[in-house]
Amino acid sequence: MKLVLDKTITPDQEAGVQTLLKQDGCISRKIKDAGQKVIGIVKKGARKPDDYLSVPGIAQVLPVSTSHKLVSREFKTEDTRVAINNVVVGGDRIVVIAGPCAVESLDQAMTIAKQVKRYGAVLFRGGAYKPRSSPYSFQGLEEEGLKILAQVREETGLGVVTEMTSPSQADLMEKYVDAVQIGARNMQNFELLKCAGKMRKPVVLKRGLAATIQEWLMSAEYIAAGGNTDIILCERGIRTFEPYTRNTLDLSAIPVLKQLTHLPIVIDPSHATGIREKVSPMARAAVAAGADALMIEVHHDPDNALSDGPQSLYPEQFGRLMRDIYTIAPVVGKQLDFDYLKKSELIHDLEESASRTAAFIGEFGAWSHKAALSYFGDDITPVPMKSFGNIFEAVAAGRSEYGVIPLENSLSGSIHENFDLLQEYDLKIIGEITIRIQHALIAHKGAAKEQIKQVMAPPPALVQCSNYLDQYPWMERVPVAATSQAVKKVKDSGDKSFAAIASAMAAKIFDMEILDESIEDNPRNFTRFAVIAKAFKGKKKVTKTSIIFSTGNKPGALFEVMKVFSDFGINLVKLESRPILGKPWEYMFYADLEVDVEKKDLAPMRARLKETTETFRVLGRY
Ligand code: PEP
Ligand code: MN
Repeated sequence: MKLVLDKTITPDQEAGVQTLLKQDGCISRKIKDAGQKVIGIVKKGARKPDDYLSVPGIAQVLPVSTSHKLVSREFKTEDTRVAINNVVVGGDRIVVIAGPCAVESLDQAMTIAKQVKRYGAVLFRGGAYKPRSSPYSFQGLEEEGLKILAQVREETGLGVVTEMTSPSQADLMEKYVDAVQIGARNMQNFELLKCAGKMRKPVVLKRGLAATIQEWLMSAEYIAAGGNTDIILCERGIRTFEPYTRNTLDLSAIPVLKQLTHLPIVIDPSHATGIREKVSPMARAAVAAGADALMIEVHHDPDNALSDGPQSLYPEQFGRLMRDIYTIAPVVGKQLDFDYLKKSELIHDLEESASRTAAFIGEFGAWSHKAALSYFGDDITPVPMKSFGNIFEAVAAGRSEYGVIPLENSLSGSIHENFDLLQEYDLKIIGEITIRIQHALIAHKGAAKEQIKQVMAPPPALVQCSNYLDQYPWMERVPVAATSQAVKKVKDSGDKSFAAIASAMAAKIFDMEILDESIEDNPRNFTRFAVIAKAFKGKKKVTKTSIIFSTGNKPGALFEVMKVFSDFGINLVKLESRPILGKPWEYMFYADLEVDVEKKDLAPMRARLKETTETFRVLGRY
């Protein structure tokens, strides 16, 4: 059962609750869930639920009906995020773990690690203790392999994941690696699970060759009961009657697990299929089905690999797969972030005095909030602001290190106010992120569509959902500033005839009901956000530049500037004109270029731009 603590519980009362649970001989785990302090208890010695209700400081007692307790969604409603060094599995960013089946030599591991990192993997895998079907097959380099993994981390900055096959290896694992894997063959090796439960490293728990989801979750429960809740479940294919592939990848396990457990899920299409050509299609499908992470075997010379060569991708193939995932992820509300590690480093290196915040418009649950989370993960705290101007001010004054502002939507066009603010303030665009906008109709619990008289949303959202709203002529469209503000207004009103258009995330945050999901007319509804800061710090590969310029008022002036880009073969991906503030009928131009304009060899281009423009400013390189 779970004990929900009173919001006003005193430290003394809390100590009293803990003492009582100890006396009763309960295994207890305290967590924070949905803004509440909760203690989960499992053990026969526990009292009857009603007995706990009379204990000072306990507000509610709720049953957990499933046989898996601590890892169940009933116990913890929020998704668990498992941090492996500076990489978090279980957020908006898809984590890709890649590397060979086995560590074969320092040279082999380092070569592959550098390649997979270049293509966007954020963790490295490689077995040092290999559980092989035949005792005559390569068994792994053992401790030597672990040392190589530690060297890989040292040189590449990639966290390393490896399999532990016996409790006797635990100390070495703690010493050399960042996360341990429990292999499919060991999923019900209970001594190993108990050992992993006592370790201070995250655990990747693979599904057994013929294990049911329930058995798998009970194995995870062993680890959680031991005290380690940093568990990632790994589906790697199960044995079925189908011999064509090595195993059958059970992708339906993803939505099933999402309902049953709060733990994040990684999919391993390499062991699931056993066939190189089948790996990428299944990896793409896994992301579409909601996987939090992928684990992929990659080898630079698979023909000579000491294990699992036939299922290992060539590095270039892995690179192509990563580009596909980059494209697919936003469709399901996630991102593949090619700058993941560089960003974490940058944030890690911020001065002590820097505010680790990103200002965004609206209330929590706004699309800008989602953009900030998708861009920074948990490294930065998103802070709501009332207006776009407030965001620029906060960043300029150093009150917020970063700001996240929407620039344009694929259906409703540019957010002009932000282009004007970019003109006004001397800030830099340091990054961009595009997210899919999926609107939901949100109202009070128990409200029916027939009851709704007013729908609140910002004008672009009302436009994006107009076909949907046309079906309900009795709903009046009421414009407000932001989607999340609409939800807050509806919530605060307590009125069941009010509804809001906003994200499903906003509905969850405000504890409201979703009446209809995906109500936007066109599913290809994406918004591009810019991340702004006072200056760009750190190194990053620059592929795009945003500029702002003005030209003289004479025939062909804009053409002359465009000709410079054309002469230098530079692709222009956006061009927009805005009135110059305070100068009626004179215009500035915003342009996005697929190049780093500050590259050394582009000096002649910069000289020509100086000649052809009246003012020229780089807004950001990212
Ligand atoms: C591995 O990851 O290399 C491995 C042996 O996996 P599994 O336990 O899923 O067979
Ligand atoms: Mn393998």
